[in-house]
Amino acid sequence: MAQTHSNSFSTRQPRVVIIGAGMSGLLMGIKLRQSGYDNFRIYEKAARVGGTWRENTYPNVACDVPAHSYAYSFAPNPEWNWRYGRGEEIQRYFERCEQKFGMTPFITFNCGIESARWEDGRWNIRTTDGKEDWADVLVSAVGALHHPRYPDIPGVKNFSGAAFHTSCWDHGVNIRNKRVGVIGTGSTAAQVIPDIVDKADEVTLFQRTAQWVFATPNKKYSESAKVRLRRHDWLARLKHWLGLHLFHMFFSTAVRGNQLTLWLLSRNVKSHLKTIIDPELRRKMTPDYPPACKRLVISEDFYPAIQKENVEVVTDAIDSIVPQGVRLKNGRVVELDILVYSTGFWPYKTSVNVTGENGVKLDELMAGSPLTYRTIAIPGFPNYFTLFGPYSPIGNNSIIENSELQAGYVLECLELIKSGKVKSMSPRMDVALRMKEEMRKGMKGTVWASGCSSWYLDANGDPIAYPYSLSRFTRDMSAPLLNEFIVT
Ligand code: NAP
Repeated sequence: MAQTHSNSFSTRQPRVVIIGAGMSGLLMGIKLRQSGYDNFRIYEKAARVGGTWRENTYPNVACDVPAHSYAYSFAPNPEWNWRYGRGEEIQRYFERCEQKFGMTPFITFNCGIESARWEDGRWNIRTTDGKEDWADVLVSAVGALHHPRYPDIPGVKNFSGAAFHTSCWDHGVNIRNKRVGVIGTGSTAAQVIPDIVDKADEVTLFQRTAQWVFATPNKKYSESAKVRLRRHDWLARLKHWLGLHLFHMFFSTAVRGNQLTLWLLSRNVKSHLKTIIDPELRRKMTPDYPPACKRLVISEDFYPAIQKENVEVVTDAIDSIVPQGVRLKNGRVVELDILVYSTGFWPYKTSVNVTGENGVKLDELMAGSPLTYRTIAIPGFPNYFTLFGPYSPIGNNSIIENSELQAGYVLECLELIKSGKVKSMSPRMDVALRMKEEMRKGMKGTVWASGCSSWYLDANGDPIAYPYSLSRFTRDMSAPLLNEFIVT
């Protein structure tokens, strides 16, 4: 596996190692191949590609970005069955892309990266199976949300029934005729609950904070619609492009404070809220912060589901988990057979131990309030690039689009390295700090800073999403500005 290291780039391609074969790692590999690179390796801890779509198999898992826009721009997919793609069809799409773009030989499956250390002008890598590798360029494509966040509720180990996080759904547990409790009211719970209400005997949703829910109809694509797209590739590309642009015009302008789109969005969520008939339940489900401050939940079947007779929404604070179920602070014990933690993830957490120049640890630098340069690089970490790291999300947009722009930027950097003009490049600390300040300023008018807690915020409560337009992000990613880097 380990290759001979030479300092001369003029005689060879720089070696690239990619961490993870999810949406963005696979994308980086495909882009490398398309640009004529073959000196790269993708390490994937699991046995298949797919990342989040491989891991999350909870009932009704789907993507709330329209399916035709949730695809690589160069690989439109005529096969989508639903306007909002189901988890398993998204997983199949990425597996097809792996085959179609000949990625399999470049991926080492069942092998994660344990550590990477910048030493003597290259990345020295240790894999989880105890082997070593090295890279001129290391690309982290580990995904933003994959370390489950279990709630800090006393007694979580005491429950006598089955308990699991949504991202580790235990399909061996039969929920039919059972009493199921779900803690958390995010996008995930809003997908799970409509599926389980008709199977379980009773469903209790433990809600700490209400969410705004945006209603948009889902639909199944007919066979003839798929045939049309198969025949006319341009039509599939047009659908992809149109979907993305509508999303930008609407969601990303709204989150950045455009009054018209924010008003339209607010109108939708407020009139959708009125579909809850029982005034007491409606009161419980009414958020006390502006729409889209937390990432919007997109669902047309969540409200109908929670209005079914066998569902109770509990908003009293949880005291502890006890063997029989959940004890509330008011003394009531809600008895349960199954407890589901739909409590989200530790954002941007990685289990890879990355050490940059002068022994600086990446997790220490990123703890609390992450520091990145243009969302993609980190001072003190030469030739290290992050796809979809902190500050990358632009509202509810398709993260594939962001990642494609970022992968393009990495290719530009690689060209510089390959040409021999640059051996290593790491962003200047002063520039990264200035940009962080710019991000913070840009956040002021956005909805994320309008008074709620969410995974879009860092430990100081400052948003770590991208506060500007997609066109600015595209400009940011257009070409590396070498005067903003320390270059050797
Ligand atoms: P989430 O949005 O972070 O929601 C977590 C929920 O758990 C919140 O309601 C939170 O309440 C609650 N919670 C956390 N700790 C708690 C505690 N100790 N006691 C009581 N409640 C607690 O997580 P998620 O629903 O898994 O979604 C995470 C992200 O994944 C989404 O924002 C989205 O980006 C992505 N996602 C996307 C899709 C898609 O279709 N594209 C689908 C699912 C998820 P508070 O609000 O009070 O903290």
